[in-house]
Amino acid sequence: MNTTFANQVEFTITRNTQPLPEEKRNAILQNPGFGKHFTDHMATIDWTREQGWHDARIVPYGPLQLDPASSVLHYAQEIFEGLKAYRHADGSIWTFRPEANAQRFQLSARRLAMPELPVELFIESLKQLISIDQAWVPSAPETSAYIRPFMIANESFLGVRPAERAAYHVIVSPAGSYFANGMQPVSIWLSSGLSRAGKGGTGEAKCGGNYAASLLPQTEASANGCSQVLFLDAEEHTYLEELGGMNIFLVRKDGTLLTPKTSGSILKGITRASLLQLAEDMGLKIEERRIALQEWIDGVNSGEITEVFACGTAAVIAPICTLKSKTFTVGNENAPAGEVTVALRKKLTDIQYGREEDTHNWLTRLA
Ligand SMILES: *Cc1c(COP(=O)(O)O)cnc(C)c1O
Repeated sequence: MNTTFANQVEFTITRNTQPLPEEKRNAILQNPGFGKHFTDHMATIDWTREQGWHDARIVPYGPLQLDPASSVLHYAQEIFEGLKAYRHADGSIWTFRPEANAQRFQLSARRLAMPELPVELFIESLKQLISIDQAWVPSAPETSAYIRPFMIANESFLGVRPAERAAYHVIVSPAGSYFANGMQPVSIWLSSGLSRAGKGGTGEAKCGGNYAASLLPQTEASANGCSQVLFLDAEEHTYLEELGGMNIFLVRKDGTLLTPKTSGSILKGITRASLLQLAEDMGLKIEERRIALQEWIDGVNSGEITEVFACGTAAVIAPICTLKSKTFTVGNENAPAGEVTVALRKKLTDIQYGREEDTHNWLTRLA
């Protein structure tokens, strides 16, 4: 909405006078886990209908002050993104396709009736924050710093309409290797009747509300020893959509990659799009279309489907060994990760960590 700002991107910087001492930071970086520890600073940009985007700043990480009537607390006007900072062998720090995240953040903002943050401002916020907190980006193999940009509506008003005030923030959390003990295939649970997103809903927007809707079925998954839930389409409960926070792929024995076509209720993952491109580069065939659950079941049982995996920024690729539900189990729990799964994961992470040439210009240097 306010695009003039993008031409005069200037962040004021207030340094944290009490950053975490180096020994403590190093202890965290030895074993960061995921999403548990946060760096010394955060980025913030405010928006009001009159002023547009203003007051871009880097400030010490800390609690937000919110009026109890803030719209986000009542009507869930909230969107977010997730991307990573990767440290390369020469010490430089890079991120992967940030303009795609910035554009998706705009798409999410439109759907949630929130202001669109200019792409340049989104990327600049990452550069500013990662530069000041670069000591927090770990360097051990397959580690990274997970970057979480988000926007909340914070007008103090209980009336139901789009808020006239919003705040954009970015926080960063060091992340350990997702598969610390090698790539372990996971079991997933078929949601029994609960949906994540319907036609015309917010499924294509990356918003907290979608996650809230996925948590109850996720609980059912955990209770049944599964790490994630698979959602089918909300109308017919027949076609594959995605997991709570990852897209899904099947691999046929002839090497063809199958993935559900995104049609409004599936989030368009950047990992998904990147894997489709890499698969094409590798000469694999691709089918993006509606995929019935039955095709998976029959395919695994007949040997036609040889591999299944989920993908998203956090895990990159997670191999799936079995699909379970109240009435059936398909697949073999002891099956190792498949050949195509392993090759695609290696290809993508080699680019992200600077071990292979970035022929698609996907990397942006942050620090
Ligand atoms: C973020 C997300 C994904 C994965 O997207 P990436 O851009 O690959 O990280 C998939 N599904 C949902 C619901 C998501 O929120």
